[in-house]
This record gives sequence, C-alpha cells and structure tokens, in this order.
Amino acid sequence: MKTKITSEWVDEKLKNGFLRNDLKLILASSDEEAEILYRAAREVRDQQFGRKAFIRAVVEFANSCRCSCLYCGMRLNNPDGMNFSLDHAELLAIARTAYENGIRTFFLQAAESESYGAIWLRDVIADIKELGMGVLLCVGVHQESDLDLWRDAGAYKFILKHETADKELFQRMKPGFTLEDRIEWLKILRRHDYHIGSGPLLGLPGQTVDSLVDDLFLLRDLHVEMSSVSVFLPAAGTPLENEPTGDPELGLRFIAAMRLFLKDTLIPATSTFERLLENGQYRCFQAGANVITVNMTPQKLRDDYTIYSDRFYVGLEHARKTIRKAGLVETTEGELLS
Ligand code: SF4
Repeated sequence: MKTKITSEWVDEKLKNGFLRNDLKLILASSDEEAEILYRAAREVRDQQFGRKAFIRAVVEFANSCRCSCLYCGMRLNNPDGMNFSLDHAELLAIARTAYENGIRTFFLQAAESESYGAIWLRDVIADIKELGMGVLLCVGVHQESDLDLWRDAGAYKFILKHETADKELFQRMKPGFTLEDRIEWLKILRRHDYHIGSGPLLGLPGQTVDSLVDDLFLLRDLHVEMSSVSVFLPAAGTPLENEPTGDPELGLRFIAAMRLFLKDTLIPATSTFERLLENGQYRCFQAGANVITVNMTPQKLRDDYTIYSDRFYVGLEHARKTIRKAGLVETTEGELLS
C-alpha cells in the first residue's frame, strides 16, 4: 500500500532524514498531500530565515553564446540568434536605479561567451560593489583565473545551473559538454571561495522522477547556498520547440522537496512559474521559496534574451506585491543571512 503523506510523516522525516523513496513520494504527492508538504516547507523556511524574503535585480547583459543547448533560444546554431551587449555605463546606471529602490543584490547574467572580456566584467563588478551592492554572477564557464579577478572585485556568489543530474540527458541537451565537467566547475567555484547556486530545468524531454531525485542529492552533496528550479518552456526556433511544457505543479513539489531536504538554501520563486500558473510566484513562496528576482534588462533588449519564448518579466511592483501576499516581510539579502 502506498505511504500516505501526513504531518506526522513529514515531522518524522525531518527528524530522521529523507531517503530516496521519501523524495519520490514528495514529487508524486496528491494535491491534498502537497498542501501538507507546503505548510511544512514554510515552517522550515521560517525557522531558518524568519518570515522574510528579499529581492534581487537581474540584468542580462550579453546574449551571444558559444553553446548550443537544445532548449535555449540563444543557442549558437539558432539562425534567429541576435547579438547584443550592454556597456559599462548602462549597467552601472541600472544598478544605481536598483540601489535607489532598496535592492542590495545585483545579479549579472549573460550567455556563455568571450564577447565581454574578463577585465571589463571585473571593472563592472567593482563599480557595482562600490555602490553598496552584493554582486551575483551567472555567466557560465570561463577561465579559472577569471574567477579570482571577479571575486576580488566584489562578486561573491555564482550560479551555474546543472540542468539535469541525468548524465545522458545532460549530454543530449548540451552537446559537447558533460555533467562531470559541470559538477567539477561547481567545485572549482567553491575552491575559489564563491557561494554557489545550482538546480535543474524541470520537464526536459526524457527526464524522469528518478533523475529529479538525483538532482536533489546532487544539490545536497554540493552543499549549495542557493538552489532553484525552472520549468521547461519550449523556445521557438530550437530543436525542442514542439515539445510539451514542463509541469509547474511538479515544480512546486520540487521547491518543497528542496526546502525540506536542504533546509537552509536560498530558493527563488522563478519567473517560469508566473508564466505558467496564476499567482505562480506566490505559490512558490507558499512552497518554501524566499527570493524573487526583478528583471531590469532594458525593455528594448529583453526580447533578444530568449531562454524561452514569451517570457514573464518580473517588475518591482509585482515582486513586492507577491512577497506581501505571501505574508512575508521584504528584507535585504545581508539582513536575511545575518
Ligand atoms: S542555456 Fe546558456 S549556455 Fe546554453 S545556449 Fe542558452 S545561453 Fe548558451
């Protein structure tokens, strides 16, 4: 007979640890069981961090990419690929606006490319740090020596999504790259004193619940400070454009599983949930998330950063409203972690 998830079951697992089958049960939970899990996940979040959430600002500053991930609209082989990059002054002006709006974490995101130089990025990081903001990078794999440059300039966190812990699926989705190398790069980031973030893309064609459980174990084994999940949405013009969208309800269960299993990681309410579900990001907070990212990429460039088609762009008002609706108090990352 299938084990039923109850509050007592969750309490016992929180005390004695979640095994592989327990995590599978969470991912396969009924709606009624999921509500029990979400409540428990909120309690764990509140014990670890208080009833608080913080906002970070992201700017996508370059979209030319040397990689060819099957699911991404910016892949090298996409004939519709556009190229843009923001200059130093534009980025600084955006960071200043974020600072003036009370945001203290600035997230520099770009496709994987040498189109912006390491020294250029170091100078951008240093100037944003000078404003009084923490700098988080998500720029893919580069020279190891660049990591020290950027960290010394003030970048202290680095996100590198592993996308899937299924080796074969990884290689199929990211031709020319291996999961082993990706994991090694996360370990290199750690050796260079970065706080690291990672997570899967949920709903990739051929992904299994077993591999999602592997994702959870991988995040735990890497001791990530930030864990996240995005839901697969097919991007136009890619080999996966006709594949079905991932299941956001399963994504919410994955958030709860991360909170219950990893406990003290920062978990963002990512924009794919808002795109796919009514009040999707509010529901992420209800499942244990505690971060939301506002998109400050200039309007004229956003549509050329095509991780998926018809993106939902999170604005500051929406982010603040969502935090309040979830009964959380907005804070800064520094305060949340102090
Ligand atoms: S997912 Fe990232 S690395 Fe892959 S093609 Fe898109 S921008 Fe490049």
